[in-house]
Amino acid sequence: MLKASSKAISTFSLLIFSAVIIGWLIDYMAYTLALVLFVWSVIQIHQMRKLKIWLAQELVIDPPIASGEWGEVFDHLYRIRKLRRTRESELLDQINRFQQFSAALTDAVVILDHQYNMQWWNRAGEELLGLKYQSDQDMPLFNILRDPNFIRYCHRGEYSEPLLQKSPHNSSIELQYTLTEFGESEKLLVARDISDITRLEQTRQDFVANASHELRTPLTVIRGYLETFLDQGNLPAPLQKAMQQMQQQSDRMQSLIVDLLLLSRLDSTEVIVDDSPVNISSIIMSSLESAEHAADGKKHDISVDLAENIGLTGKEKELHSAFTNLIYNALRYTQDGGTINIQWLCNDAGGCFSITDNGPGISSIHLDRITERFYRVDDDRSTESGGSGLGLAIVKNVLSRHQGYLEVESILGQGSTFRCHFPLDTLVEL
Ligand code: ADP
Repeated sequence: MLKASSKAISTFSLLIFSAVIIGWLIDYMAYTLALVLFVWSVIQIHQMRKLKIWLAQELVIDPPIASGEWGEVFDHLYRIRKLRRTRESELLDQINRFQQFSAALTDAVVILDHQYNMQWWNRAGEELLGLKYQSDQDMPLFNILRDPNFIRYCHRGEYSEPLLQKSPHNSSIELQYTLTEFGESEKLLVARDISDITRLEQTRQDFVANASHELRTPLTVIRGYLETFLDQGNLPAPLQKAMQQMQQQSDRMQSLIVDLLLLSRLDSTEVIVDDSPVNISSIIMSSLESAEHAADGKKHDISVDLAENIGLTGKEKELHSAFTNLIYNALRYTQDGGTINIQWLCNDAGGCFSITDNGPGISSIHLDRITERFYRVDDDRSTESGGSGLGLAIVKNVLSRHQGYLEVESILGQGSTFRCHFPLDTLVEL
């Protein structure tokens, strides 16, 4: 363009110079100069009109024929327009592909701004969440998803675990919500239909619950007879030993059934936000008392430090089972004479129940898995202690129903610490 304009200046200068010479020769310098300037201006105005008409065209058609500098200007503008059109159509292609891809997604995807207003969603968002562009665009997400648990999940800022809830649009659809932050505090909400998996899981839970329930009655009869025979006390020595072993094993089976029934109840009942305050200190003391009775004569050096005036909102029975499991484990797995420290403390971060022992400890390779059902670090150790393998699974489940989580620290050969953390807003003053 710069080349074209300098060329135009030199052509114009040459024209003026020629007009001056010719005008001087014929003695009509002013007229000649005026005529040349007039013709020059008419040509420029004509080219400009052609340019204006051509630029107004929607389609990128070939530029008007022009020579010299105007030709170069037209060519240059033509190239720019063509490049822009190519980029536009590439961008349009990408948008179309993205729309096709998002429409093919079976998961609902919703883009939210930093105030949780819904900016965009795909077709599955309409089907699974019932969103409508006319009425819901730019509206707060919480107009649609009003459940307090969901709102709490969004404001928590920690989204590593998904949230399971029914669809607000169709209660027969079970959804798994995942929130991810991107850009400037914007969020991406993904809702996946897990109704089939939930149904399958329900069948499994029902089977476990029914089987455990059905086993309970025959086992009660067997335990009753065993107790009667052993109480009579006049059995021959080998039979007496066999009966005692049968009684031990039937006791184990009984505690296994109790734990299975408890777990299936925890799995199948919905988390209900309960406002009744639970006195954690008294739960801990009663669990400790019953654990000490069951400690097979082992004596431990136990210290207890409790914030007695602080309780927790939740389900007393569930919290009792969780703490009892942890206290039983500490007493069961720690050798006679070992030390155990129990604490229930609160600070600005929330409440924490912790139990530390100097028992055998757990190798780090097992730590990630010990809350799985029936996961045993060491089969011999558990068989000896009569554990069901479900205790820590119950603890984890109960804590998550109370918005808490379990933290385990352990060094093999030195001991373990189990901490149950609860958020600040679940604590109450007693
Ligand atoms: P169990 O009924 O077998 O004790 P749990 O789920 O309560 O099942 O515990 C899982 C495993 O974690 C146990 O088998 C045991 O090996 C280990 N464990 C739990 N608590 C302790 C502890 N305080 N010290 C050492 N090991 C422990």
